[in-house]
Amino acid sequence: MHQYDYLIVGSGLYGAVMAHELNKSGKKCLVIDKRDHIAGNIYCEDIEGIHVHKYGAHIFHTSSKRIWDYMNQFAEFNNYINSPIAIYKDELYNLPFNMNTFSKMWGIRTPQEAKDMIAKQVAETGITEPQNLEEQALSLGGRDVYEKLIKGYTEKQWGRDCKELPAFIIKRLPFRYTYDNNYFNDRYQGIPIGGYTAVVEKMLEGIEVRTGVDFFEFRKENPDIAGTTIFTGMIDEYFGYQLGALEYRSVRFETEVLDCDNYQGNAVVNYTEREVPYTRIIEHKHFEFGKQEKTVISREYSSEWKVGMEPYYPVNDEKNMKLYEQYRELAEKEENVIFGGRLGGYKYYDMDKVVEAALDKLEDIQNGMN
Ligand SMILES: Cc1cc2nc3c(=O)[nH]c(=O)nc-3n(C[C@H](O)[C@H](O)[C@H](O)COP(=O)(O)OP(=O)(O)OC[C@H]3O[C@@H](n4cnc5c(N)ncnc54)[C@H](O)[C@@H]3O)c2cc1C
Repeated sequence: MHQYDYLIVGSGLYGAVMAHELNKSGKKCLVIDKRDHIAGNIYCEDIEGIHVHKYGAHIFHTSSKRIWDYMNQFAEFNNYINSPIAIYKDELYNLPFNMNTFSKMWGIRTPQEAKDMIAKQVAETGITEPQNLEEQALSLGGRDVYEKLIKGYTEKQWGRDCKELPAFIIKRLPFRYTYDNNYFNDRYQGIPIGGYTAVVEKMLEGIEVRTGVDFFEFRKENPDIAGTTIFTGMIDEYFGYQLGALEYRSVRFETEVLDCDNYQGNAVVNYTEREVPYTRIIEHKHFEFGKQEKTVISREYSSEWKVGMEPYYPVNDEKNMKLYEQYRELAEKEENVIFGGRLGGYKYYDMDKVVEAALDKLEDIQNGMN
């Protein structure tokens, strides 16, 4: 006899959706998280009355009505539209690359003028078979867009020169020949009113949750506590890194309270020159149109990841994907354990995709095929 039907390791979005649905269908669940709070990476800390996105800025966006309706059970969403700004030296551009960007860069007005300018600059590079990311970006967008908006930012993100990065990282450049600064193409977008932590709180209502509890310690004392474990931590850590560690890129945040009500006039400002050490500054209040007297900003520094650090972005190159595949094979043999979420699946998932993955897995469980 087990005390719980399910032990859910991780109270991030994946774990919370699983717990919510399983609880709803009458299963007894226990959720544990090694952090001292729930909500995983979408956790927001309240500073000066502002929801500060502690693990990076999160904007919910989806094209799926099913997922949008699902999320709207737990919160109403505001009408925030992500429209980042890029700063290169003393020049300021709208993102994503659109007519506002091109007009500012070249003093032009029409889509045809922009297309002609890009085609001219692409032709000038003379690159036909790009050998690295720099050549790829130049051959797709020409010199100005590459040097002012892509080069420095990408080099900071990857911690390497664009000439040393593979061309396949950039498949195409999302040029938009309209005056439209909306970063996402999705039908639905917004920030939950009340913040993300409240969404997860609502998902976990009526479910036993223990924070500050690490699975690997907990398991020693409670090996048979649940019939099934849903594990959303790192898959390689679960197996004691026996085949080696999967690689990640990490991000360091420097958060500061400022004694002014509006620092940069936009939630997201990218710094695209290499000499500025951070990649972006996030001003959190603008996600929720905040009117507080003070403001909170976070500078984001992209960094190398080492075991023990916060893992953010999986490095989905050939070497790591091969290693992941081996861990996945081990995972399949593990009885009564379901691996999921961004760390369990070693995959970059946007929030809508992680909710979708959880709902799909629940269907499998219902159909008796874990
Ligand atoms: C910087 C950044 C920005 C992002 N921005 C966006 C965005 O704008 N829009 C968007 O849609 N998506 C965004 N995402 C993706 C989004 O964060 C993920 O889709 C989502 O948070 C994944 O949820 P999860 O439950 O899989 O993982 P997590 O939220 O990481 O949850 C996993 C949980 O498991 C816990 N855990 C791990 N190991 C153990 C253990 N051994 N014992 C106990 N607990 C453990 C962790 O503490 C954590 O709370 C962003 C991601 C990053 C990194």
